Amino acid sequence: MLPEILQNKVEFLKGVGPAKASLLKSELNISDFSHLIAYFPFRYVDRTQIYPISSISADESFVQISGIFEFFDIHGKSSHSRLEAVFSDNTASIRIIWFQNFKWVTEKIHTNTPYYLFGKVTTFKDEPYISHPEILTVDEFKRLPFSGKFQPVYSSTEKLKKRGIDSKAISFLTAQVIQKVYGAIPETLPQYLLESLKLPEINQAFQNIHIPSSYNSLDRSLKRFRFEEALLLQLRHRINADKRKRNPSVIVFEKVGKNFNSFFHHALGFELTNAQKEVMKEIRRDVGSGFRMNRLLQGDVGSGKTVVALMAMLIATDNGYQACIMAPTEILAQQHFNTISKWVINSNVSVAMLTGSTKSKARKQILTNLAEGTLNIIIGTHTLIEDSVVFQNLGLAIVDEQHRFGVLQRAKILNKNENPPHVLVMTATPIPRTLAMTFYGDLDVSVINELPPGRKPINTLFYYDNQRIHAWEIIRREVNAGRQVYIVYPLIKESEKLDLIALENGYEAIIRDFAMPKYEVGILHGRMTQDEKDFVMNRFSKGLTDILVSTTVIEVGVDVANASVMIIENAERFGLSQLHQLRGRVGRGASQSHCILIGSQTLSDEAKARIKAMLDTNDGFRIAEADLKLRGPGDIMGTRQSGDIDFKYIDLVRDEKIIDHARNIAEQICANDSSLSKPEHQCLLEALKQRFGGTTLAEIA
Ligand code: ADP
Ligand code: MG
Repeated sequence: MLPEILQNKVEFLKGVGPAKASLLKSELNISDFSHLIAYFPFRYVDRTQIYPISSISADESFVQISGIFEFFDIHGKSSHSRLEAVFSDNTASIRIIWFQNFKWVTEKIHTNTPYYLFGKVTTFKDEPYISHPEILTVDEFKRLPFSGKFQPVYSSTEKLKKRGIDSKAISFLTAQVIQKVYGAIPETLPQYLLESLKLPEINQAFQNIHIPSSYNSLDRSLKRFRFEEALLLQLRHRINADKRKRNPSVIVFEKVGKNFNSFFHHALGFELTNAQKEVMKEIRRDVGSGFRMNRLLQGDVGSGKTVVALMAMLIATDNGYQACIMAPTEILAQQHFNTISKWVINSNVSVAMLTGSTKSKARKQILTNLAEGTLNIIIGTHTLIEDSVVFQNLGLAIVDEQHRFGVLQRAKILNKNENPPHVLVMTATPIPRTLAMTFYGDLDVSVINELPPGRKPINTLFYYDNQRIHAWEIIRREVNAGRQVYIVYPLIKESEKLDLIALENGYEAIIRDFAMPKYEVGILHGRMTQDEKDFVMNRFSKGLTDILVSTTVIEVGVDVANASVMIIENAERFGLSQLHQLRGRVGRGASQSHCILIGSQTLSDEAKARIKAMLDTNDGFRIAEADLKLRGPGDIMGTRQSGDIDFKYIDLVRDEKIIDHARNIAEQICANDSSLSKPEHQCLLEALKQRFGGTTLAEIA
């Protein structure tokens, strides 16, 4: 529990009545002291110095000076007039200029009275001046919480500002609260860590955040909060992982049986890569260990994760369990279903697909078979985690392309069986290390770091719109050689209609340009019905269609080995990992493949950087790192809206070292006090409860 004083309502603060309090609540979600101290400034202004006026040069940006106004003077014609004053200290004078609010200035501000001024220095004909400075009387200056310190700048909203709650007003509030609660904020980090890491204790740290007296104290305090946030998260991961490794699982796949063996010896048409073999060993060790598997399988686009998934599922069926695979889109679920059905066609393993568009009669039958255990493998979308889906005994759940699902959905699948099933999470976009540590910190990691043999690196090209003739030449050449082509258009929700028109125009242009009997062109987009989509996709898969004009519905997982050209229209509108995903749709067969990015003449710097990254490398890990830097983690994980990522202090790009460090420390702590029962770790236990809810260690994780 938070100490009572921190639960005091903001109404108790000077200058906050019920109206302002409810506004603070609705606008910033601040209602008590604890919220207010956790509301950090987003930047700081240096108010530590009073500048001698003689030292001010054109290079300074913001300065704080003290002195007196010598005189005021109105210049210029009425419509363009300005009010000028000369402000002096005992070293020199500087011109102060107002372009409006003359009346306020001349009434409120007096000559020969000491004031403090703060403002931005501008120069006109080499002469520095300050326009519209902040003006404070000596009294007001003394009362400022940040006098002689760094001024915190808080974000506020239009509504709050209208009621006078701007950044400065917020700084008065936080300063008041810090004064009231100082000493009462409970420490969350053990003393020995504070000492060894040279971090300030928590009360000091909060004070430094809101009214820092030096850059160094601010810096150490920010580090403290970032470290603390990272540590709590890593502790939670460790506690989770330890719990799993301590509690034996009743689901043990002891043997490899008929289903696996007949697939492996008769249906699998190729030799597994060494990386695939290695991963299979890891999975077999996990599922046979007597503890629950919770494994992340990372592998670049096209590295062959699907067959690994199938083999794991077959082992589950060999041991009398059911297995499921959950894909992020219907198309991908369909794709998995097609591939897997073909692979198990001559066996006793039964496979079905369940998605949002499964007809109710079929759905009913599938649900019955699942519950009765006559269905071995089910492939579907997030439909699978709905309550109506009941398994007889689910032993293995595979989540494909995890980054599209929320962490919550992963947790939900565990409840699909009385005893939680083994879980294998597969991601196509390799995840940068910091993200992996943060989101999958409690998973063991396997990597497929090798593509099946005989793949030629994809040749990536960029053409401006008006050079598309070159792209067309490549299409013609490849289609004439019997291969197939994707042409992808962006489709983004807000402009869906316009994009659809662009897609349809593109489709018609292709038909015009390639209107020879032997070219067949298909079109695929999200507004088509499932049956229409299936029809088009099946024709393309079978090689009946030469060119498929499509939106990003084909982005993930689609697998047509004969496709050798991927054209991406308006490439500047795609994110980097999306571009890489799309590129991964080709280069799956043995022939040389091409990915051609087409962009408009005017590209933003960021778009240029994305395209450059695509041209520079085929390596998914390097793409993922570049993407993280360009876009930030929220977009990459696809969870920005879902609230999965709500870091207060950590920035996954900037704070890699801190996260790394926190992970090591969390490991050390758990290694010698896994239940956090030592006296020095009580503070961490309390902080974990506070952060993640729950009253016991077991409930936290
Ligand atoms: P991803 O990892 O992107 O999901 P897939 O599982 O779709 O990749 O595999 C891409 C293609 O490579 C599929 O056609 C698959 O059958 C094929 N493949 C997988 N493993 C091998 C292998 N060891 N040798 C040859 N082809 C393979
Ligand atoms: Mg895949």
